[in-house]
Amino acid sequence: MSLIPMPGALSDDECLLVEAALAFAREELLPLDRAWDVDESSVAQVLPKLSDMGLLSLLIPQTYGGLECSYRTYAAILHEIARWSPSTCVTIGVHNMVGMILSRRASEAVKQQVLPSWGTEENFSAFAVSEAGAGSDVGSTKTSAVEADGGFRVTGEKMWVTNGLAGRWFFTLVRIQGDPPKGDLSAMLIDGRLPGIERTRITGKMGIRGSETAVIHFNEAFVPEDHLVGPRGGGMEVCLAGLNSGRIGIAAQATGIAEACLDEMVSYARQREQFGRPIGSFQAVADMIAQSAVELEAAKVLVWRAASAVDAGTPSPGASAMAKLYASECANRIAYRAVQVHGGAGYVRECRVEQLYRDARITSIYEGTSEIQRIVVARELANS
Ligand SMILES: Cc1cc2nc3c(=O)[nH]c(=O)nc-3n(C[C@H](O)[C@H](O)[C@H](O)COP(=O)(O)OP(=O)(O)OC[C@H]3O[C@@H](n4cnc5c(N)ncnc54)[C@H](O)[C@@H]3O)c2cc1C
Repeated sequence: MSLIPMPGALSDDECLLVEAALAFAREELLPLDRAWDVDESSVAQVLPKLSDMGLLSLLIPQTYGGLECSYRTYAAILHEIARWSPSTCVTIGVHNMVGMILSRRASEAVKQQVLPSWGTEENFSAFAVSEAGAGSDVGSTKTSAVEADGGFRVTGEKMWVTNGLAGRWFFTLVRIQGDPPKGDLSAMLIDGRLPGIERTRITGKMGIRGSETAVIHFNEAFVPEDHLVGPRGGGMEVCLAGLNSGRIGIAAQATGIAEACLDEMVSYARQREQFGRPIGSFQAVADMIAQSAVELEAAKVLVWRAASAVDAGTPSPGASAMAKLYASECANRIAYRAVQVHGGAGYVRECRVEQLYRDARITSIYEGTSEIQRIVVARELANS
């Protein structure tokens, strides 16, 4: 079952796009994803194909040559891709989120420079915000910029950067020297092809092992003044607005992983027999399946609702946070049950649910942990 709730919810063209993504992911990405999980090689090898399919310019306005998908279509595509390759899903999700931020907030010069070719692998991008000491507390960012002739020189280290090896463009947050020590961060787009940038791969991840994760070291990297994204000192707002939509992408990744777990559970429960009966006929096993199906449907409704708010021009941080919180936590519960239904068979690498169980784990951590999502939801209620 897809994320799309009913016939007619998306246009025919949008449905075709979702179906193309589903077919590609099922037929081509699944075997690769299984191999990446073992050897930690990277999704980057399929960037040309992702580009050909338009999957790298989903949120770029048509005036710049992008597909300008509705957010609901975008979420449905991420859901389908995550069912077969959670690593590819986050790779695409991060790049499209950066493209969306630039479409909304970059200077006209940057838009003209990068957006028309945003869908190509040459302009692949990363969202480099977290630091060793600034995870949930982004305001503690230490990466700094000093004014230089025509721009800034940036020095610091960003942690956990998805797409950090193949990415050319880094959306990042810095504190410009002379600006106040807490708050007032500035967002910048840094060209990774310029001198002063080093990348160190992070290996040994629990899951999404095909997605690239890196530490990015900026050593007096030059950033032209027009590569500030949003106003100087207004970077936090730019970043949080981007994340509010981006989180819907992670929620869709979670529903995709959960859907894959449910499919595996149902199929195994039909075919595995114990005590002379298919295990699905035991009420305890049927309960696990039914509970998972209900939770997954509820998660999809939350994702659809949050994406619809973005499409209506009224993005809601609370709705996005609820979708991410619920979808990611239910993906973890469903992955747990999927392993349980498989018994010992679910505990070894050959069984896909073993990987899905590990892949699901990150969804309640990145782009804001579950604890942070609860804070966003509670804050919105308190202010309503
Ligand atoms: C595989 C992977 C990919 C990632 N990709 C990116 C990326 O592309 N770009 C990027 O910028 N970052 C990325 N991240 C970083 C990710 O967003 C952070 O790990 C996440 O935001 C949490 O930050 P932290 O790890 O520093 O944990 P911490 O902030 O140190 O949190 C540790 C624990 O404390 C809890 N906690 C912290 N503050 C509070 C609070 N106020 N109230 C209640 N509980 C709290 C947290 O919920 C968590 O349980 C990635 C991380 C991983 C593992």
